[in-house]
Amino acid sequence: MRASDIEADLTEVLCTEDEIHAKLGELARRIEADYEGRDLLLVGVLKGAIMVMADLARELERHVQTDWMAVSSYGAGTVSSGVVRILKDLDSDLSGRHVLIVEDIIDSGLTLSWLLSNLRTRGAASVEICALFRKPEALKVHVDVKYVGFDIPNKFVVGYGLDFAEKYRNLRDVGVLAPHVYS
Ligand code: 5GP
Ligand code: MG
Ligand code: MG
Repeated sequence: MRASDIEADLTEVLCTEDEIHAKLGELARRIEADYEGRDLLLVGVLKGAIMVMADLARELERHVQTDWMAVSSYGAGTVSSGVVRILKDLDSDLSGRHVLIVEDIIDSGLTLSWLLSNLRTRGAASVEICALFRKPEALKVHVDVKYVGFDIPNKFVVGYGLDFAEKYRNLRDVGVLAPHVYS
């Protein structure tokens, strides 16, 4: 299957690879300024954030450390319940560290809200969030996201790490999945 065949499953492309890279560059400049003179630990949330983490980390022209967590919401597949289970915990001790959570997308906000309070109990000096996408109309809880790439409509999107049934993560752009694919 060629990349163009994957694109054929989309009704629209919301962000191209180039637009995403440009945005990550802007966010990286802000992060460099905000964390100047301080060590920084990037915490990626598996698996959706793999591409954001890889590209944001390389946009940063400074040292960073990286670590990963995998979490899963209890309950039915597509709806986040807010009850979160840790599938893979961090390898790092957060005491005194400046932590930046790197996420693909904030939808209801329930997962990040839980993650933020969980990491804040571990003695970090600061914990902030960077999310490439946010769906303002889908938010159920307020979450302070310091760095947001794009606000997008309340539609199910895939690509650039975001999956449907573990597929589409390798699509370079981000787009809206056509209904015929999941019905
Ligand atoms: P939340 O707890 O904010 O509702 O959901 C967080 C997680 O659900 C995201 O990190 C992401 O993995 C998944 N998710 C939310 N919206 C979408 C979407 O539009 N497309 C995909 N592929 N995953 C999504
Ligand atoms: Mg995610
Ligand atoms: Mg998923």
